[in-house]
Amino acid sequence: MIQTARNRDQVPILVYHRVHPDDDAPPIVAGEYCGHVLLSNFVRQMRYLDKHGFSVITYRELYDWLQDKASLPPRPVLIDFDDNRGVVYDYAAPVLAEYGWPATCFVITALADGKLPEIPHEGWYSAMNWQQLAQLCEAGWTIGAHTQTHANLRKLDEAGYQDRIEAELRGCCEDIERELGCTPFCFAYPQGQWNEAVEAVVSRFFPIARHWHEFSPFHYVTKSTNPLRLPAHNISEQLSFADFVAFVEQTADMVQ
Ligand SMILES: [Zn+2]
Repeated sequence: MIQTARNRDQVPILVYHRVHPDDDAPPIVAGEYCGHVLLSNFVRQMRYLDKHGFSVITYRELYDWLQDKASLPPRPVLIDFDDNRGVVYDYAAPVLAEYGWPATCFVITALADGKLPEIPHEGWYSAMNWQQLAQLCEAGWTIGAHTQTHANLRKLDEAGYQDRIEAELRGCCEDIERELGCTPFCFAYPQGQWNEAVEAVVSRFFPIARHWHEFSPFHYVTKSTNPLRLPAHNISEQLSFADFVAFVEQTADMVQ
């Protein structure tokens, strides 16, 4: 496929939450948030990226490019998994291992600790523990921060709990450093919730932070993107394969 100018100047970030086997997936309600893709569709999407010459890059590579310190490989793309779900370890990681791609997992550390039984609005799904996360690190994955308890940081700010925002970020970093021996470099806002006051606190801990979008139009990282406001698109069963292709190829806005 011919590479367009936009392919070189704009970087798509794919954010997944869960990957379920086709015969063991939660129901999908039309028009409502969907937090998963079927394994067969995930495999199809990864095959597409591989067959069409995409390069999965890390947040450090993206940051260096934004800072004009490095160039990017052809057709760059980032693959994220938010919330350290067990099904990501079970089903997505083996697929990515076939390609040797460095995905990023944004970790809710109280889930990995077993101290947080579940994210309140999500229902129960198994969580990856620290041992499994360490294995992903060894396989080349990046571990990002996603707070200790998946707190809505914007709501904490609006309620006057600025000290709890800082505690969520500091605690998350300390947990990852203690368990995995690495300092997280990138952050993803739980539920994508933020405001400028929250961002100011985040900027004291991380040079790079990511939001996410669920609806059209598609958003991409460009040279002019604020590193603390990186856009990503939620990849779920609500997104058709044609729309997935349109997103990564940057050929069209999403058809709703
Ligand atoms: Zn999350």
